[in-house]
Amino acid sequence: MTSAELDRALSLIRSIPDYPQPGVLFRDITPLLADAAALTTTIDALIAPFRGEFDYVAGIEARGFLLAGAAATYANVGLIPIRKAGKLPRPAAAVSYALEYGTATIEAHDDIPNGATVLLIDDVLATGGTLGAAHDLVSQLGGSVVGTAVLFEIDELGGREAVGDPRLHAVFHS
Ligand code: AMP
Repeated sequence: MTSAELDRALSLIRSIPDYPQPGVLFRDITPLLADAAALTTTIDALIAPFRGEFDYVAGIEARGFLLAGAAATYANVGLIPIRKAGKLPRPAAAVSYALEYGTATIEAHDDIPNGATVLLIDDVLATGGTLGAAHDLVSQLGGSVVGTAVLFEIDELGGREAVGDPRLHAVFHS
């Protein structure tokens, strides 16, 4: 991937003010997903620092699924879906984390062999609560997190510190 290709991919992330609530600048990756060349460039850049180091990707519902699915086939590894509470038939582990108002819970099945290496994937890193909880979830299931890859990091929210992963890789930053 070249920097010109990455610049073009970045230009396809749309910023929507005040969605889903006032004060939030929503980063909409759907135009990037719809562009074949930009999607391939982005998936390549997303997993590049971890190439050959992971047996699975774990994608976080919902937009993390889209990237993790593409990354799994690109890297020829398996995919673990990390779901919001109540969506899985037999969740093996659940982790709750704080939101601005209230809490959220994520769950996963125990489909990770003990000690398997896992790359966590999501679209946007904001406060880091979701990815921090995903780390705990994969660890509870016996997986070993090799790193965290996000498409877009909102630097000013300090999510990187909240996740606490020394190998947190963001393709794009605000
Ligand atoms: P957080 O736990 O605060 O890091 O939030 C991360 C999750 O919320 C990710 O799964 C994102 O899909 C979503 N998210 C948070 N802020 C934004 C934003 N400004 N634009 C798009 N998605 C966001």
